[in-house]
Amino acid sequence: MSFLQLPAAELETTLAKELARNPALELVDELRCPGCGKRLLQRPCPTCAAPSQTDHPIVYLSPREPRAYSPAELETEYRDAYAHVPLDEYILRQIGPQLTRAERPMAAYILAQLDEDGLFAGSPAEVAAAQRASLSAVERVLALIQHADPPGVGARTPQESLLVQLDSLTDSIPPAMLNLAHAILQNHFELLGKQDYAQIARRLRVPRSLVEAAARFIQRNLTPYPARAFWGEGKVPETEDASALSDPDISISFFNQSSGGPLMVEVFTPFSGWLRVSPDFKAALADCDEADREKLSAAVEQAALITKCLQQRNHTMRRLMQIIAEEQRSFILGGDRDLRPLTRAQVAKALAVHESTISRAVAGKSIALPSGRIVPLAKFFDRSLSVRDRVRRLVEHETRPLTDDEIAVALAREGIHVARRTVAKYRNMLGILPANVRARLAKTSRARPASMPALTPAS
Ligand SMILES: [Zn+2]
Repeated sequence: MSFLQLPAAELETTLAKELARNPALELVDELRCPGCGKRLLQRPCPTCAAPSQTDHPIVYLSPREPRAYSPAELETEYRDAYAHVPLDEYILRQIGPQLTRAERPMAAYILAQLDEDGLFAGSPAEVAAAQRASLSAVERVLALIQHADPPGVGARTPQESLLVQLDSLTDSIPPAMLNLAHAILQNHFELLGKQDYAQIARRLRVPRSLVEAAARFIQRNLTPYPARAFWGEGKVPETEDASALSDPDISISFFNQSSGGPLMVEVFTPFSGWLRVSPDFKAALADCDEADREKLSAAVEQAALITKCLQQRNHTMRRLMQIIAEEQRSFILGGDRDLRPLTRAQVAKALAVHESTISRAVAGKSIALPSGRIVPLAKFFDRSLSVRDRVRRLVEHETRPLTDDEIAVALAREGIHVARRTVAKYRNMLGILPANVRARLAKTSRARPASMPALTPAS
C-alpha cells in the first residue's frame, strides 16, 4: 500500500534503499516488460502494447525511467512582480510600440490563442484568413511575439520554443555549446527526450560527455513550456506543484501519431532493470547452518514481499489508467472544459478496491498529456475545474461585467449550484478581477483608440 502512494521517482529511491539493505533482493540489469515479464528487445512491449482493433486506450507498463525535463529555476521575484498581469497583456505591452495600427488586432488575435504553456495552438494561415491579412504580415507579428518575454512564447511546439529561447542566449554562451545545443534540439529532439546521449553522440560524431553537457545546459536554462513558470496553472496553488510536474509518472500519446486512433498510455515503473529474489541467495539458504537460517529466510521473505507489492502497485496503476483514459478521452485530447470529473468512489467500485486505494494511487502522481502538458493525476478528479472553466467563459462573453451573484445565477441555469462565495473563490483562482473593477477598466479601454483590442483575463 505504501508503494502505491509514491510517485515513480520516490519509489525508486525507496527501492534503492531496500536493495542496499537486503542482500536477498536483486536488481537485474536487463530490459523486461513489467507487465508480462518478457525480455524486451524494443519498447514498448509488442505484447502488452499491441495495436488494438478498437478505440480502447492501450495501457501498458514501461520500465523506462521518467524523462528529466525540469522546469527552469523560477525567479521568484520576477514571477511575483508579474503574476497579476495576464500573459497576453504583458506581451502586448512589450511589442506594442513595434506594431502598426493594422497589426494590433492581429497580435491580440494570436495572443488569445496561446495555451496555458504559452505555446501558439493556431495556424498562421488561419490567422491570416480571419484577419484578412497576408501570411507574411502574420509571420512578422508572430516573430515579434516569439522574441518577447518570456522567451519562446508563441512558438508552435516545445521544440520550436526551445530553439527560440536558445537564440535569445546567443551572446551569453560559448559558440561551440550554442552550436551543439542547436544541433541537438533541431535534429535529435526525440533522442534528447529519451536521454539517448550515446546515440546523439554517434550521430553528431562528438564525445558523449559533450552531449551530456549540452543536455544539462538545455535542461537548466531552457523550458519547453515558456509560460508555465509565471502564468497559467502555476497560479492555482491547490492543483499544481512545480517539482511534481517535472517527472511524469504516466505519459499519453497517440498510436501511430494519429489523433483519431486509440490512446497509448505508458505507465512508468521504477528502474530500467527488474527486481527479483536473488537465486544465489536462495541457494545459499539451503546450505547454511541452523543459526543463520532464520535470519536469511526472513530476508528472502521480505524480498519476495517487495517484488509482489511492486507488481501489485503496477497492476493497480495500469487498471486505474485504463478507466481514466477511457472516461476522459475528450479531456485528454481537448481542454479543461471537457473534463468529466470522476469520483474516487466510482473508480474504486469499478476496480473493486477500497476508495483509499484509489486515493493512494492518485496521490502525488503526474501525467504528460499528448499536447505535452503535464498535469497532476488528481486533476481528473477535480470537480471544481469544469465549473471554473464555465466561470471563465461567462466572464469572457459578458456584455457588461457580471457580479458574482449574477454568475452564480447563470451557473444555476446550467444546472451547477454553487454559492456566491464559491464563485468569488474560483474567480480569484482564475485571476479575474471583481465586477466593479472590470467595469472601471472597461471604461478606460473604451477611451483607447478603436483598433486597440480590449484584453480579456488570461485563462
Ligand atoms: Zn509485456
